[in-house]
Amino acid sequence: MRYGSTGYNGGMTFAAFADLCQELSSTRSRRTKISLTAEFLRRLSLEELPAAVSFLTARPFPASDPRVVEVSHATLAEVMAATGPAPDAPRLDLLEVAGAFEEIAAASGSGSRRVRTDRLRGLLEQATPSERRMIAGILLGELRIGLHDGLLQDAIAAAAGAQAEQVRRAALLLSDLSEVARLALVEGPTGLERAAVRLFVPLLPMLAGVSEDFSEVFEAHGGRTALEFKYDGARIQIHRQDDAVRIWSRRLTEVTSSLPDVVAIARGLRAASAILDGEVVAVGADGRPLPFQDLMRRFRRAHDIEEAAREIPLALYLFDCLLLDGQSLIDDPYAARWDALEGVTGGAYLARRVVSGDADQAHAFLAEALAAGHEGVMAKDPSSSYAPGSRGKRWFKIKPAESVDCVITAADWGSGRRRGWLSNYHLAVADRAGGFAPVGKTFKGLTDDEFRAMTARLQALRVGDDGYTVTVRPEVVVEVAYNEIQRSPQYPSGFALRFARIARIREDKGPEQATTLEQFRALFEKQFATKSRRDL
Ligand code: AMP
Repeated sequence: MRYGSTGYNGGMTFAAFADLCQELSSTRSRRTKISLTAEFLRRLSLEELPAAVSFLTARPFPASDPRVVEVSHATLAEVMAATGPAPDAPRLDLLEVAGAFEEIAAASGSGSRRVRTDRLRGLLEQATPSERRMIAGILLGELRIGLHDGLLQDAIAAAAGAQAEQVRRAALLLSDLSEVARLALVEGPTGLERAAVRLFVPLLPMLAGVSEDFSEVFEAHGGRTALEFKYDGARIQIHRQDDAVRIWSRRLTEVTSSLPDVVAIARGLRAASAILDGEVVAVGADGRPLPFQDLMRRFRRAHDIEEAAREIPLALYLFDCLLLDGQSLIDDPYAARWDALEGVTGGAYLARRVVSGDADQAHAFLAEALAAGHEGVMAKDPSSSYAPGSRGKRWFKIKPAESVDCVITAADWGSGRRRGWLSNYHLAVADRAGGFAPVGKTFKGLTDDEFRAMTARLQALRVGDDGYTVTVRPEVVVEVAYNEIQRSPQYPSGFALRFARIARIREDKGPEQATTLEQFRALFEKQFATKSRRDL
């Protein structure tokens, strides 16, 4: 094993990790960041490697480890303030820090907050000031060392003598860089090549490009495409082996306990083991989809989950099968995966679909999806494999965009790359009293040049600045695309835009031509022509 050959026996100090972080944050060179990190990874023992990699991603545990350290900003600040002076010299090992995180995560039940804060203070008391900063960074998920996942993957490749592409592929399949680093450094490039879809290890879902035009889709997909309803719910990935079922969200958060109804369905599948990809949608008493907000209520509930399941029933729509009876299907074509899906479900819970090369039929299918209250359609290349985490032309989403014309009433100063720009815009519609009612905020849609120009323009309209938000005279009108209008307790208007993004700057419009609150309310109501409504 590669580790023996380095002659290194573990005992990496946490100070060495803190030094590395310091060096990483003081260089902007990608090459230097990669080589410093690779050098560090090579010096670790097999036990230290997963912890070091998760620390580098500002996580106390590897991504696939469900444990969490429940420490808020406020608690951390409180504990820091109560911590005694730092030791004169570093004395912590990397594994001691990992062990302390494990103990903090394990504390539960009554009095656990006390146990957590005591253990945390004990840890911080052993740490030098720079180590304390790193521990805080890991616990809060922000290390500020400028080592994003792509660079860390490059460093793992460099440390293992593997191709960056091999590491990237393994990362998409395993969704856990600690595990990828272990494979790469222990088993080398051949180990990475063997990385495959695994039960109970969620992989990143495949994503779709955008198209507005079926002829583009037919051309990209060789004449015929598989059209499916695009359901506006939440993506889920179901893993099942015998009676064991676990479910993950699109962002790979485990959501099994929120979805007892889906677990029950998964237990009934006709296979010993399977991984399925699909969408859950909340449905109203009339069988129509409820707005996204109602679905989120199901996910937020920690208690009385069975009751929530009764109150807000879910519909499940499956559209892919990534593993069946132990065999990965991701390199098989879509058409074969769909056959497998039909087999394993017996045809139940499938996304509605039609395979077609005819534009009229495609338009009719889209109209049917919209009339049934769904978002639009997906178009999938029947010959395409399943590409985890990638967004391209093999899957397209086609949906009509809704938009409103909003006035910018204020803007927040940006941070990071957007420092110095007014980059988060407060959007409002015209109310009856001649004022403007806020309905959302967005920092999406403008190019860098447009951000700069907008910053100058808004500063000229400035009426106030509290250092965070600049209030402006309401003169600039922007066309804002959105996915849905939601109810909002936060805004006095009672409404908020979901997924707002600036489609264009309406130089041709003045504030008096902005969408009015009445029109906005009517758009909200219109959504229920096709969607179900829960009376609140
Ligand atoms: P978007 O979030 O706009 O990029 O659209 C992609 C999302 O649409 C996926 O992540 C799924 O959550 C959702 N979706 C709904 N229906 C389907 C479908 N039939 N196939 C794939 N994704 C779907």
